[in-house]
Amino acid sequence: MARKVLTLAEVRDGSLRNVSFEAIAAAKTIAEGGEVVSVLVGDQVQAHANELIYRGADRVVVIEHPNLKFYTSDGYSQALKAVIDKEQPEGIVFGHTALGKDLSPKLAIKLDAGLVSDVIAVEEAGGNIVFTRPIYSGKAFEKKIVTDGIIFATVRPNNIAPLERDESRSGSVEALAVEIKDLRAIVKEVVRKTAEGVDLTEAKVIVAGGRGVKSAEGFKPLQELAEVLGGAVGASRGACDAGYCDYSLQIGQTGKVVTPDLYIACGISGAIQHLAGMSNSKVIVAINKDPEANIFKVADYGIVGDLFEVVPLLTEEFKKLKV
Ligand code: FAD
Repeated sequence: MARKVLTLAEVRDGSLRNVSFEAIAAAKTIAEGGEVVSVLVGDQVQAHANELIYRGADRVVVIEHPNLKFYTSDGYSQALKAVIDKEQPEGIVFGHTALGKDLSPKLAIKLDAGLVSDVIAVEEAGGNIVFTRPIYSGKAFEKKIVTDGIIFATVRPNNIAPLERDESRSGSVEALAVEIKDLRAIVKEVVRKTAEGVDLTEAKVIVAGGRGVKSAEGFKPLQELAEVLGGAVGASRGACDAGYCDYSLQIGQTGKVVTPDLYIACGISGAIQHLAGMSNSKVIVAINKDPEANIFKVADYGIVGDLFEVVPLLTEEFKKLKV
């Protein structure tokens, strides 16, 4: 059954987030030959429209307003509700990002739609669109179908392969004027706490440190390794609680959920709450001096040793591979 499916494109720091393209790929599967319409929301974001077409969108609707420069739940839900009312889609896909997690339930309620959140795979099977999502902190997976109403899903970053970029694709770009009013809050400025770098939730490689790193200074070798691998630095709550790094780096049940291609855990014991945020990584390498550490139970490769010896050695070897 051909469907019209809407996706929300996310722009951050002047660039489209990769999850915008992953949402388009998921939408293509749901559309089953129907139309994929990407929605760009913000202030002066139209320049990104063509990129969404190259990545598979058939059409792009742009909603620009000064009050949409920064995300607010009120502002974005007004914008999205307007485009949904106009387009009447049969499917909607957002990224399972901080923005998508905030906005999707609010809209689902307004649309009286069910919401399949945190999806890691979408397929057509037996005449249904089947979603796979992790449950019980990633210990099991469930498969879900939507039997009635709009098919509304959020996709976890880094799990659904985006379509090949194709500059020969063409599609229309339309502006939609929406009155954004009665906002209870307007964000005037966003001040970043941490240094710019690769976004943890979209990073292909993460080098994460735990209490075993022992100090803020101890994170330096991890940063060097991450830099050589083009990755990001993450942390356990143990490291954050000890003041070695900012809480924005925390991975786990009460931190960020990540699924990189490679996760290198350094001096992390592997508490269940930490595993909840990283156990679905494609390849896990654990470095710990305790051979009994729980992290080895989920690791594909385990290195029993002192991280301060092992990490610099890895950095040196990867540097050699790069030249
Ligand atoms: P530790 O458990 O102290 O482990 C340090 C490890 O470093 C040890 O295994 C040790 O052998 C190793 N080590 C020490 N020195 C070296 C060295 N030189 N070389 C190599 N290895 C070394 N935790 C999270 O991470 N994320 C969460 O989101 C989270 N949410 C939580 C929510 C709740 C409600 C609760 C109760 C807890 C939560 N926790 C979370 C905390 C979690 O239970 C653990 O306390 C925490 O993950 C431990 O951090 P750690 O592994 O860095 O520290």
